[in-house]
Amino acid sequence: MSLYKTEGIVLRNRDLGEADRIVTVYTRERGKVRAVAKGARRPRSRFVGSTLVFTYADFLIFKGKGLDNISQVSIIEPFSRLRSDLVSMAYASYMAELVDISTEEDEKNDSIFLLLLTAFQVLPELPDPEMLRFAFEARLMTYLGYKPVLDRCATCGGNPEAAELAFDAATGGVLCLECAGAQGDGAIKVSRGTVELLKRILNHDLRRIGQLKASVEVRRQLDAILKSHIDYHLDRSLKSREFLEMVRHTGRATS
Ligand SMILES: [Zn+2]
Repeated sequence: MSLYKTEGIVLRNRDLGEADRIVTVYTRERGKVRAVAKGARRPRSRFVGSTLVFTYADFLIFKGKGLDNISQVSIIEPFSRLRSDLVSMAYASYMAELVDISTEEDEKNDSIFLLLLTAFQVLPELPDPEMLRFAFEARLMTYLGYKPVLDRCATCGGNPEAAELAFDAATGGVLCLECAGAQGDGAIKVSRGTVELLKRILNHDLRRIGQLKASVEVRRQLDAILKSHIDYHLDRSLKSREFLEMVRHTGRATS
């Protein structure tokens, strides 16, 4: 039995028993961690605010025989704006779920922790968070070891000059049209511009991601290829995706 301290972001929580809450936290020191906040659903519990989704805090956790127990929480940043605005809520829920389903417990990954933290800091400031989502998806996949091949054809290794290319997650990334044609219907048609933008998105400062612009068609292609890449490698359904699709088309309220 031991006590450990770690900073982390609450990915999700669910009720446990009469008054407890089980909290999933993505921590800097230990990756994903699950722990019980005893009595968190009682109105006067010290855990009421600190176990809400997206909360960034220092956690003191007691590791016992069964489930770990949260012994103390000290909030660093509540990220309350992510919960008060529908668009931010949809994007933040999606990002949190993506991290949750793609990671294992007790596997530290500093890049993923910083990606999530930075995305949550930037998200409420962006009039249109879609480019941030693309950057988040592409980077998360990269940090998980599934970086798509973008600088050559994933099948023949050639450097295609054509304006029209294809993307196939099962093959690993971009394909020239000859290889895509030989392969059948699985590949998604994309323009060279979309592939070039995806390369820029992977390297662009996340805090300045709002500077990158793209046409509706390029966004549609980015959405399609990242979705297929995620679905192929993670093979899990994302509950928050439908909510995200809904607000994506509505945008932020201008009030
Ligand atoms: Zn090829």
